[in-house]
Amino acid sequence: MPNISKIAREIQPSATLSLKDEVSSLEKEYGFKIIDLTAGQPDMGPTEDVLEALLKGGRLHKYGPVQGDPELREILSEVINEEIGVKYSSQDIAITVGVKGGLDILMRVLLSPGESLGIIKPFWVTYPESARLAYGNPYFLESDENLRPDPARLRKEVEDENIKVLLYSSPSNPSGVVYTEDELKEIAKIVKEKDMWVISDEIYGRFVFDGREHKSIVSIGDMRDNAILVDGPSKRFGIPGWRLGYVAGPREVIKALTKLQGHINSGASRPDQHAVCVAYTSKKAREANDQMRQRYERNRDIFVKGLNEVDGISCVKPEGAFYVFPSIEKLFGYKYKFDGKEYIIETSVDFRNFLLRKAQVAGVEGAPFGMDGHLRFSLATEEANIVSALNSIKGASKELYL
Ligand code: PMP
Repeated sequence: MPNISKIAREIQPSATLSLKDEVSSLEKEYGFKIIDLTAGQPDMGPTEDVLEALLKGGRLHKYGPVQGDPELREILSEVINEEIGVKYSSQDIAITVGVKGGLDILMRVLLSPGESLGIIKPFWVTYPESARLAYGNPYFLESDENLRPDPARLRKEVEDENIKVLLYSSPSNPSGVVYTEDELKEIAKIVKEKDMWVISDEIYGRFVFDGREHKSIVSIGDMRDNAILVDGPSKRFGIPGWRLGYVAGPREVIKALTKLQGHINSGASRPDQHAVCVAYTSKKAREANDQMRQRYERNRDIFVKGLNEVDGISCVKPEGAFYVFPSIEKLFGYKYKFDGKEYIIETSVDFRNFLLRKAQVAGVEGAPFGMDGHLRFSLATEEANIVSALNSIKGASKELYL
């Protein structure tokens, strides 16, 4: 058989695959019931009005405009203005197949082969692979000890590594850090000085806690010439399976993206776009989103407090999104016994396996998010699961020894 391409061989599979294998083998072999805190999606689906609109949207069975439904783009123009105070014309917005699909095409629009994408750590697992798929070069930019952007270091690294495009998510997956206006201004200054692109992934923008306001870099000064906003309905309306997202930015970028999209997928699903018009204007959908946020905020309070009580675990308090990303580095070198065998924890995968075996709790290892000393837990679940997971983690950690 002839071989497959170098890029297909070298791209990393999604981090959750090996985790799924480990979970199902433990459940089968030991009869465990594992509490799953790995979900990268809300535990709630769309409201009834949005579902009904999806059914009606089924009548749109022919190809639509590659750039996306004009009505949805008009609605998004209003929503973006209302939420982050920037007025994009509907011509400067393109609807994509998920935020992931938008990012994938953006990489090809902004990077020529060999050019560098600077990704602020910790980052969403897909970012480096999407740069590699465009034959670009991912480079990982350090954050400070509280997982916040570090402008002085950023300026130097961006210069030394000749970074062309900067990418981050705020609120962040996996850390829950929400960049402040001052931090965004610092980043904006660097982007302008170096005349780079910056992509701001704001998919968790509706999940900010403690009464904070979500701020976007596109709203700062004259950043609109350099900044590109990516966002979508997957998380806010609980519809990640519908595969819809959007990109808003300078017209030349949106035109190029649309040109490429015309050959890649001919545009996003029309029934979805029809239904999402209803979602963005539905009072019910907005209320459901508010309830989700409140529930995740409560889960965060319980989980972070509890985790910080465990010796060796320390956790930055997430300000948004629905993840917790504690440091577990101090537990490297510790051992435990399971099924008659002794194991040592030396990596985040080892710690993940320790929790699966001894606490029956599943989190995702930090390595693919760029920080091996951490683990990511999802808060998108019932409070009862958060409480039992916490008790189990506390119990299991008592069995660690040096
Ligand atoms: N960006 C971030 C930061 C995410 O966490 C995710 C989903 N986990 C996405 C983008 C992709 O979203 P979509 O479902 O719209 O492709």
